[in-house]
Amino acid sequence: MVIGAGVVGLAVASRLARQGREVTILEKNHAFGEETSSRNSEVIHAGLYYEADSLKGRFCVEGRDRLYAWCEERGVAHANIGKLIVATETAEEPALEKIMERAAGVGVTELYPISGAEARAREPVLNATQALWSPRTGVIDSHGLMLSLLGDAEDHGAMMAFGAPVIGGEQTAAGLRLWVGGAQPVDILARTVVNSAGFWAQAVAASIAGVPAQTIPPTVLTKGNYYRSSRKTPFSTLIYPAPVAGGLGVHVTLDLSGGARFGPDVEQLEITDPAQIDYTVDPTRAEAFYAAIRKYWPELPDGSLVPDYSGVRPKIDPNYYADFRVDGPTAHGVGGLINLFGIESPGLTGCLAIGDYVADLAAD
Ligand SMILES: Cc1cc2nc3c(=O)[nH]c(=O)nc-3n(C[C@H](O)[C@H](O)[C@H](O)COP(=O)(O)OP(=O)(O)OC[C@H]3O[C@@H](n4cnc5c(N)ncnc54)[C@H](O)[C@@H]3O)c2cc1C
Repeated sequence: MVIGAGVVGLAVASRLARQGREVTILEKNHAFGEETSSRNSEVIHAGLYYEADSLKGRFCVEGRDRLYAWCEERGVAHANIGKLIVATETAEEPALEKIMERAAGVGVTELYPISGAEARAREPVLNATQALWSPRTGVIDSHGLMLSLLGDAEDHGAMMAFGAPVIGGEQTAAGLRLWVGGAQPVDILARTVVNSAGFWAQAVAASIAGVPAQTIPPTVLTKGNYYRSSRKTPFSTLIYPAPVAGGLGVHVTLDLSGGARFGPDVEQLEITDPAQIDYTVDPTRAEAFYAAIRKYWPELPDGSLVPDYSGVRPKIDPNYYADFRVDGPTAHGVGGLINLFGIESPGLTGCLAIGDYVADLAAD
């Protein structure tokens, strides 16, 4: 049983179904991918920012290569357009060196330091004293990816249930019993339950009898707002500044039709209940966006930024580098239950590697 039809739940379901298991995906909404999986930057990350030996680093590097191959095989729209990470003043250059070290630690081999002049040769409007060129970064149609994962899971026998919120559960001698609400409430018995409910995963875990409270991390909700450009932008590749606390800095990503969006920024929410999230983008944040973008693109025209969408990072710690948690029974003592906590970025990039890892844990 898989709880949650975001990109991670769907990748897990596809992997489990391919192992010949009987899989049902329970999703509280009436369509797949309506939450974080459709409110992100749609970037295939190369794996530059993660600690050595972290799950984030491992899943990103493995997942990235698997994802490019998956997209090629299944015709999921994507583009391997690369990215530049820029230092806009000498004080930011050490941050680039740190990225080089981190990237090497997780096994990224393709990352190249270039001078400010070389960066400007690629993107003439840039203000850069130095930069890193990451050729393995790309962009992807996240909806198309989820559609392909669901199709693959269903082709291997999985069943998708929409309008099926998991409201609780308990361990029984016969397996894990889940109580599912919605229009037609049912109890379902399962040998394995994968809780991939995004920022609801903590609430789902707490609703299952026997999961010790101290094994459930806090729910930390950090909003990321995006603006789009109302005019044509001059970039042909992704542009990232040196990272900031809590996020990667207001970067430029290009969608598959060439449109540019800027963001996400970092807005720490006071709430801990995901039901209270307001995705509206506050127009007064524009001023901070102009200031952040003009550091690397000084000629950004006045009046060109328009509020776009937002997403909320499912964090378990305000610290950006808190690792993903994939908690099997040894972590919480409930047989058959696997809780996924804190699957923020690079969860989209790493989804296929997460699927493999969870399937291996379920087989133990
Ligand atoms: C602003 C932002 C930018 C990002 N950019 C990138 C990026 O460029 N590249 C990248 O690799 N990653 C990125 N990420 C991270 C990526 O989007 C996530 O890691 C990924 O989408 C998480 O997928 P998920 O399936 O775990 O969660 P979700 O997409 O949130 O799916 C969880 C699902 O569980 C369902 N659910 C919840 N509770 C229940 C219940 N009780 N019963 C049944 N169903 C339930 C929900 O309805 C939802 O459909 C970004 C994230 C954010 C917020």
